[in-house]
Amino acid sequence: MDISYMSSGGKLNPLQAIMDIRHYTLALDVNIEQQSIDGYAEVDLLLSQRTDTLLFDLVHFLKVKKITVNKINSNFFQQGDHIFITNSKGFDTGKQKIKIEYGGKPPVAVRPPWKGGFTWTKDTNGNPWVAINCQLEGGKVYYPCKDHPSDEPNEGADLIITVPSGLTVAGPGLLQSTSKPKDHKQTFHWKTNYTISNYCIVFNIAKYKVYSSTYTTINGNKVPLQFYVLEADTAKAAHVLEIRARDCRILEKYFGEYPWIKEKLGIAYVPNPGMEHQTMISYGDRFTYKKVNGQDYSDNLYHEFGHEWWANKVTNKDWAHMWIQEGINTYAETLFFREVGGERAYDSVVNLFKGHIANKVPVVPGEVANTGEVYTGDIYVKGAFFMHSLRYVIGDEIFFSTLKKLATDTSYTYNNFVTTDDVEKLFSTRSGKDLKPLFDLYLRTTNKIEVSVVNIGFNEYALQLKNFSMELPFDILTDHGTEHLLIGKKVIKIKSAFPPVADPEGHYFKKVTIE
Ligand SMILES: [Zn+2]
Repeated sequence: MDISYMSSGGKLNPLQAIMDIRHYTLALDVNIEQQSIDGYAEVDLLLSQRTDTLLFDLVHFLKVKKITVNKINSNFFQQGDHIFITNSKGFDTGKQKIKIEYGGKPPVAVRPPWKGGFTWTKDTNGNPWVAINCQLEGGKVYYPCKDHPSDEPNEGADLIITVPSGLTVAGPGLLQSTSKPKDHKQTFHWKTNYTISNYCIVFNIAKYKVYSSTYTTINGNKVPLQFYVLEADTAKAAHVLEIRARDCRILEKYFGEYPWIKEKLGIAYVPNPGMEHQTMISYGDRFTYKKVNGQDYSDNLYHEFGHEWWANKVTNKDWAHMWIQEGINTYAETLFFREVGGERAYDSVVNLFKGHIANKVPVVPGEVANTGEVYTGDIYVKGAFFMHSLRYVIGDEIFFSTLKKLATDTSYTYNNFVTTDDVEKLFSTRSGKDLKPLFDLYLRTTNKIEVSVVNIGFNEYALQLKNFSMELPFDILTDHGTEHLLIGKKVIKIKSAFPPVADPEGHYFKKVTIE
C-alpha cells in the first residue's frame, strides 16, 4: 500500500492536453470498517481533438468495474495509476460525459497532509473520524481525474457521499441535501459551483457538530461561517469563528474580498495539521494559540485560510510555480503581524523565515515540474522573504497595490492560472522597473546578491554589486549615519571611518565581502 513514489502534475500527457475538464461528480459509499470506497465518478469534459483514447489518473489500488462514455459502454484498461478508455471508431470533439464505476481500498495516509491518502481514526469518544489529504499526490488517490493543476473543473464539483448514519460529511461548497437514514446509512450531497483544484475535491467524516455564524465581507456580502467541530471541542468553537472572522478581515484588506462569497467560509476539524480545502479549510492544531499583541493567533488556522486567496483563487499553472501559492501565502502571515503588532512584529517574523532558508535548490526548477520535484521548505520561506525584498525595492504603495491586483484581477484568478513570469511582468509593469533579474536571482538560482566593499584610501570605500545587473536601493550605514543609495555594477565611492554597512536591516538575501 505504498504510494511514496507518487506525485501530482508534471509534464502533461498529450492525451490529457486535449481534455478540458468541466465538472466532476463523485458518488461514493464509504465503508469505514473495511476502509474502502465504492461508487462512481462522472466527468464532464470538452475534447478539443478527435481521439481514440481518453486518459484518466487513478491510483492502481482502486479497481474500475465499468465505464460508459455518453451512456454507451466503453472498453478500458488500467495500467499503473492510469485508466485508458479506448474506442476504435474514436471519440468526437466536444462535450463528453464519462461515468467510471470503481471501488476498493484507497491509500492510507502516512504523514498527512505531506504524505497523503485516507486517515481512518477515531475521536476521543470512539466515533469514526476520516480525513483525506492529497495535495502532493493529487486527487487520483481516490477518484479518476486529470491530475494536473492547469485544469480545474470550470463548473465545479458535486460530492454525494454515503456514510453510516449518525456521522456527518463535511465538503466543499454548499450542502444540498442530507438523506433520511436508510439501512443505517445517510447520504450527504455537497456541491460547489466554483472552479476548484483537484486536491481540494475531498471530504471529511466525523460525528461533527456544526457551529455557524455569518461573516460580512469587506464589500458587504453576507457569507455563512461554519465550523464542523467534534463534540468534545464544542466549547472552543465560538472562539475559532471569531478568529476566522478577524483573520478574514486582515486578508481582505490586503488581497480583496473573500473569494467564495456565494458559498461559505468553512472549517472542518481533522486529525492532521490541516490543508487549504476550498470553502472547507481543514484545521487540526488542537486549539493552541500564540499571543500577538494580546491576541490569539494560530498559524495553522491563518495559513490554511490564506490559501483561499493564494492557491485556491490565485493558482499556479504548473507546480513549478508553487512558490506563488506557498511563498506569497507565507508572506501573508507576516501581514497579520504587521496589522496586529506593527512593523517590528512583521520584521521579527520575516527574519524567522529568512533564518529557515535552506538555499539548496532553486525555488522554481524550470517551467514544468511535479510536486515531488518542487516541494521544499524554500518555496515557503524563501518565497516569503523574496516578497519582503520586493517590497523594499519597489516601495509600499506599489508593492501592496500590485499584490492586491494579482489577487483580484480576473486575468490572474479563478480559471486563469499564473506562472512566475506572469507575477514578474505584473510587478515590473506596475513599478516601471525591469524586475526580471531580481525574480531570477531569488527564484531561479541559489545565488545571493554579492555586495563588494573595498577600502580604496583613507576613510574611503568603493561599493558595488558583483553579480547583479540592475540597480537596487540600499541603506548604507557609515560614521555619518544612514544613507539611501542606488547600488549596481558601477562603483560608488563612500567616505566613512569604518567599512560602510550595506543593508544593515537585512532586506536582501545577500553576501557582503569587505576587502
Ligand atoms: Zn500552505
